[in-house]
Amino acid sequence: MKRRDFIAGSALGLAAGAAGVAALRRPGANTAKAPATPRRRHEWRFITAWPEGFPGLGTGAARIAQRINDASDGRLTVKLFPAGAIAPALGVFDAVAQGSAEMGHAAAHYWQGKSKAFNFFASVPFGLTASELSAWIHYGGGQELWDEGYAPFGLKSFLAGNTGVQMGGWFKQEMNSIEDFRGIKMRMPGLGGEVLRRIGASAENMGGSDIFAALQSGRINATEWAGPWNDLAFGFYKVVRYYYWPGFHEPGSGIECMVNKAKYDALPADLRAIVATACRAECETMLAEFNRGNAESLRVLVDKHGVLLRRFPDDIMAALGKASDEVLGELTSADDLTRRTYASFRAFRDQSI
Ligand code: CA
Repeated sequence: MKRRDFIAGSALGLAAGAAGVAALRRPGANTAKAPATPRRRHEWRFITAWPEGFPGLGTGAARIAQRINDASDGRLTVKLFPAGAIAPALGVFDAVAQGSAEMGHAAAHYWQGKSKAFNFFASVPFGLTASELSAWIHYGGGQELWDEGYAPFGLKSFLAGNTGVQMGGWFKQEMNSIEDFRGIKMRMPGLGGEVLRRIGASAENMGGSDIFAALQSGRINATEWAGPWNDLAFGFYKVVRYYYWPGFHEPGSGIECMVNKAKYDALPADLRAIVATACRAECETMLAEFNRGNAESLRVLVDKHGVLLRRFPDDIMAALGKASDEVLGELTSADDLTRRTYASFRAFRDQSI
């Protein structure tokens, strides 16, 4: 076929195709098809444990909401609420379980009072890195244990972000030996807090927004939160100067997005998939945003604000490691879910090393 004939033939084909499409669009041309029923619209309240727009965590929650709103074309509208608007930071779990909100963004180790097993879905001392946690949750049996643990509360949770490896925390003085932890009053959630208590410190959890005032008042004299980007935003450097690494207690903290299971199960399959996929997308996105923000902010903290950056000495890390092994080891006598979760986690970690 000559090139000119080919072009002419293609043009005819296009014209015929266009005529066909036009015929389909003519009124009455497709009478066999029933008129479309308007699909039901859903409105969800999405509460978080973070201040509005907070770096990485609040921005991550906002991205999840935006993805759901965009991908569902408005059929599922998710409205975001910061900590304190509907429930306090540490009240997210109960609020979503009770139906005061349909969805919540937080960290599973905040709820260790309900089961120690929940620590493993966020982070535990000398635990998994961000990519290892994702591997265990998605491919190593973690999600099944998580589902089992949250089911009695009428909840289901998705991994929906990761802070990456955290910093060891902020102290008023140099930490030269494990004895220096005696008498320290530190904000630290989860099993890391148990480790601190074992070495003579006291530990308590509190929402991020409460930490600065607690440092100023002397209720605590040390804290951890996440890493340079977040910690700069909270302004801890104005009260405490020594900034230690690494965060033995949170080597890769998973952030969760929980849903009220009855509300989630009532959604059509495509909207359920949109919620799950929006959360899954945030696993990588939040980590990338943290890595960028941390790199920039560490320089600002040290160069602009004169923060004294220190690495925990090896003997402190060894002592923290020993205390962490003891704390984790005692979970073998905890409730059945915790024992099975710890066994699954430990088998995965041993395989990953
Ligand atoms: Ca932390």
